[in-house]
Order: sequence, then C-alpha cells, then structure tokens
Amino acid sequence: MKTIYVDNNATTSVAPEVYEAMVPFLTEDYFNPSSMYEASRTAADTIEEARKTVSKSLRAGNPKQILFTSCASESNNTAIFGVAKANPKKKHIVTTAVEHPAVLDVCKDMARSGYEVTFLPVDSSGNLDVVNFVRAIRPDTLLVTIMHANNETGVVFPIENLSRLVKETHPEIVFHTDATQSVGKLPIDLSGNFKHVDLLSFSGHKMHAPKGVGALFIRKGTPCRPLLIGGHQEGGRRAGTENVAFIAGLAKACELAQKHIGDEERVAALRDRLENALVEKVPYLEVNGAGAPRLPNTLNIAAHYIEGEGILHELSEHGICASSGSACTSGSLEPSHVMQAMGVPFTAMHGSVRFSLSRYTTEEEVDQIIEVFPHIVEGLRKASPYWDSVNNKPREDGLMA
Ligand code: PLP
Repeated sequence: MKTIYVDNNATTSVAPEVYEAMVPFLTEDYFNPSSMYEASRTAADTIEEARKTVSKSLRAGNPKQILFTSCASESNNTAIFGVAKANPKKKHIVTTAVEHPAVLDVCKDMARSGYEVTFLPVDSSGNLDVVNFVRAIRPDTLLVTIMHANNETGVVFPIENLSRLVKETHPEIVFHTDATQSVGKLPIDLSGNFKHVDLLSFSGHKMHAPKGVGALFIRKGTPCRPLLIGGHQEGGRRAGTENVAFIAGLAKACELAQKHIGDEERVAALRDRLENALVEKVPYLEVNGAGAPRLPNTLNIAAHYIEGEGILHELSEHGICASSGSACTSGSLEPSHVMQAMGVPFTAMHGSVRFSLSRYTTEEEVDQIIEVFPHIVEGLRKASPYWDSVNNKPREDGLMA
C-alpha cells in the first residue's frame, strides 16, 4: 500500500538536494570545524556560507545574527531564558494560550520562578484580539513571545502589526516569534515586514531538512544570554561542536524554499480542494480556524460525535498519515490546549484531525483522502453513542438512551 503523507506540520521528508548537500560532511569532510589544520577549513567555511544563505533567505542582513541550534525547541528556550537572563530586573512576559509547548511550557516554567506571564486568549476562529494585546503590554514587560503560525490549525497571527505596535510604544521590549511553521511557507522579511522582530525561531525538519537542526535569528543589539555554556562556538552564543552536515542541509532547505515559494499557491489550491470536498460530503464537519488567515498547507477539521484517534487509526489502515493535533500532544486523551482555547464545542473537541500538505503532495493523494474520509466518518458515527444510525443524525436524547 502506498503511503500518503499529509502530516508535514509534524515533520517533512528530507529533500533529495538537501541530502546531497549533507553527505560530504558525513563522509570525507568529517573534520571538526574548530580545528586548526587545513583539512577542517571546508567545514568551517561551510557553516559561514550556510549562515549567509539562511540570512539571505530571511533578508536578515548581517549573517552573524543567525545562530544555529539543534531544533526550534532549543531556539525558543534560548530566546526566552536568554532574554530573561540578560534583563533580570524585568519580570513580565506576554504570550498566547495557543503556543507550541516549546514556548508555552517555558513560559509556565518562568511563571513558577516568579515571572508574571499574560497568556492571551483567542476567539473561536483562533484569532487574537489586538486591543487586548495592546492592553497587555506594560512598562515592566520584558518580552513578547507570539508564534507566527499555529502548528495545529495553521492560523497566522499578524506579527508585522503586533511587533510594530510594541516597538512604536516600547522599543526596549524584546519581541520574539516562533516561526517554525511559517518559514518557507509565508514571506518573511526581517528587513521589511518583520523588521520589528528581535528574535525568530525555526526548525529544519518542518522544511525538508533533517530533524536535529534549527536556527534562531537574534537581531544585533538584542540582549540575550546563551543557554548552552562551555564552548566558544557560534561566536560564544551556543557551546557545542556544530552539526556541519545538518547546518549545510538547513541552508540548502532555505534555498529550496525560496525557489519553491510560488508552489505554496498550488499547495493552497490542493488544501482548498480537500477542505471544500470534505465539508460538502461530510455532515456535522467544521473547519477549525476557518474564520482566520491560515497557512496554505494546513487543514484542521472537527468531525462532531466521533474521536479523532479513531479517524486516524482508520486513515492509517488506508496508508494515510495525518494527525489529531500536535505530534507532542497526540497520544494523550486530553483535547489539545489549542482546541480548548478556541472553545471548540464538546461534541467536536475530540474529533479534530489535521491534514498538513507539502509541495510534494499530489492531486491524486488528495483525491484518495476525499474518497475514503466520508466512509470512515460514517462508519465511526454508526458506532457512536451520540449518533442515531437509523436516522443518520445526532441523537436527540443526548448521551445514551
Ligand atoms: N514550534 C512550533 C510552532 C512547532 O510546530 C514545533 C514542532 O512541532 C516546534 C516549535 C518544535 O520544533 P522542534 O521539533 O524543531 O523542536
């Protein structure tokens, strides 16, 4: 059975060009980039070239502002803990209730160690209220950390506006965004629309580079202390021998994403085709985040009266790999914190499924999902205590007869 992979917000396949760019550093050019002999020169030069490529892809200006890390979680931890360590006097942080745990749990940890954290709510579409956001900013605010695109729903926050609003009134407040799901999918220009962003995190494995490499943009002058101490690497900002092969892979992935940015329109058209067909064919189906701007590749749907886990299991039987939320929260019976924050109704809270496409997703694959999904939902509803299988609609008498 052919695998249909539509879980690209969890991780992506490594692009063949990325793999090729990495191989030399896993074979003949294995040298430590910090060594003094000539043989290690290629490794050291490759890292600096990669820094230039990544910086150029984000229009970041001086490449020294790019710090290579092991993943977006590390980038987020570095940004939040690093800014806090550099400014010990300020104790207020603004974030949202729908961040990835790599920000949310760090903020909760900060709250346990005496910081005051404002977790901004979202509405039922997943949108932030800008007036509420502005009200949350205070003279003693240290850091604003707000994701660009949500990994579960694909909802995009207006980082351009939010960062401008902060900087126009309080230029000293540090603005961080977790752009792990948007780099390569949406236009990000750190000299243009994102010029007020001080710190930006992202990860290789969401953009066809391997797992185990990420980056953090740190705008020059932003106070941020290192998370990993004990080595001079990365200009003293992150200790640890650099992962040369993966850094070369990340740079190639950034280059490819630039080249393929036009493909996002095709991806959006495929996503819309999937969305429209499922909404038309399946009754009591809702699109989570439908009323908000969304990533071109993400579709999160809630099928009322059934369990997302059941849908995923059946999809898997057809070779279709999708997800019921973030990879980190799936597997737990708790509905995702994102669905809870959006106030998704109880009957749909557990029935959410995320399809996340990539530039490698084909029309045939989407048609295959459109073919099987309605039958899966119908079958599961027949077995649901909330569903009247005779009349093919929700039971009117509530939970059980
Ligand atoms: N931030 C967001 C928005 C994500 O979607 C993810 C992964 O799903 C992460 C951070 C963590 O990324 P990594 O696996 O590279 O640590």
